[in-house]
Amino acid sequence: CTVREKPEQKAYSIVGRYQQLKEHNPDAIIGITGCVAQQRGEELLARMPTLDFVLGPGMIHHLPEVLRDMEGGRKGICAVGFENGCPAHLPVPHTPRLRAYVTIMQGCDNFCSYCIVPSVRGRERSRPSSEILAEIDALVRRGTKEVILLGQNVNSYAKHNPGELTFPRLLAKIDEIPGLERVRFTTSHPKDLTKELIEAFGTLEHLCEHFHLPFQAGSNAVLERMNRGYTREQYLTQIRRLREVAPQISITADVMVGFPGEVDDDFRQTLELVQEVEFDGLFSFKYSPRQGTRSAQWQDDCAPEVKQQRLAALQELQRETTLKKNKRLEGTVQEVLVEGSSRNSPRMMMGRTGCNRIVNFSGGTARVGELVMVKIDDGLQNSLRGELRR
Ligand code: SAH
Ligand code: SF4
Repeated sequence: CTVREKPEQKAYSIVGRYQQLKEHNPDAIIGITGCVAQQRGEELLARMPTLDFVLGPGMIHHLPEVLRDMEGGRKGICAVGFENGCPAHLPVPHTPRLRAYVTIMQGCDNFCSYCIVPSVRGRERSRPSSEILAEIDALVRRGTKEVILLGQNVNSYAKHNPGELTFPRLLAKIDEIPGLERVRFTTSHPKDLTKELIEAFGTLEHLCEHFHLPFQAGSNAVLERMNRGYTREQYLTQIRRLREVAPQISITADVMVGFPGEVDDDFRQTLELVQEVEFDGLFSFKYSPRQGTRSAQWQDDCAPEVKQQRLAALQELQRETTLKKNKRLEGTVQEVLVEGSSRNSPRMMMGRTGCNRIVNFSGGTARVGELVMVKIDDGLQNSLRGELRR
């Protein structure tokens, strides 16, 4: 992932470690795929002579040919283009998975000023709904109970595919697949969140009451420079509408601190928004300039220690809120999808609520993949603890 600076550095050090493999096995093949590959291309081959190939996200379906070429003695392959449409159907893993991710679209047309996704993932392309439905059907036949639909901006699904289902209509079709217990999706963009999608939470049986809606900043001045296309007030209205339709809905978000020009008062507005919404989970990041984006031309003028302080303040506030919300669930009975035995104690089992909270529970055994009711006794910082109800 090259969205932020830190994960990119991690990718380089991992490749560095894998290079040692070649000392033991000269036939080993090392390649980089994904967004770092897309962004750096040939530069990676020059920088790391033991690297054999570099494939961007738009070329990943050519991996079998690349490996055949390697066997034929070709080295140093670099392919980072984008073909029209989404890559042809990628194989579904044969091992049964309780929870599966299904990509419904790729790329992004939004060009938020800080974001590298549009340049490393290309323009927005949506997969045909028939293909998505067939893939989910095949997964469910192999034991999948929960699917998570993936896209950078799922609300605009199929905007370039005339006659295709809208995202809420696609969800309605998925909801009807027999044997599928849970559907989630990520990510939604506040500017494109429609009434129809919000209403789906009131009508679709298997749609989990969980919504990830990044807001990025609480100050309108910063949102404008980020080119997000909504205001703080519009964001808060979307949250209110979601809670009107689904009062128990769990809402999570992404937020950034230290965007160029973010002053104390801007950050105060971010903190206030977080306080007001009471998110169920918050992913907070320090801004880092990404080469080629609009904001990378602006001075990264927020000092590292200020970024750190702001991040710590947000994380502390969120920790308190998460604990408070988990405590509120004490005494309630939650539907839990069983995932296996608990990591903390072999005598307990573990699963997740529809809101995606981890629950460790005792009081009997349940089958993996089964939906059970659990009475919650303790709301902890990162999980819930309870007892099986039969
Ligand atoms: N499509 C999603 C987000 C994709 S990137 C959306 O629009 O919300 C995931 C998260 O990484 C973003 O929500 C943002 O909070 C963070 N991020 C993106 N670019 C960043 C940058 N340059 N510096 C720090 N965080 C960044
Ligand atoms: Fe990046 Fe998301 Fe904005 Fe697209 S919508 S540019 S992926 S932050």
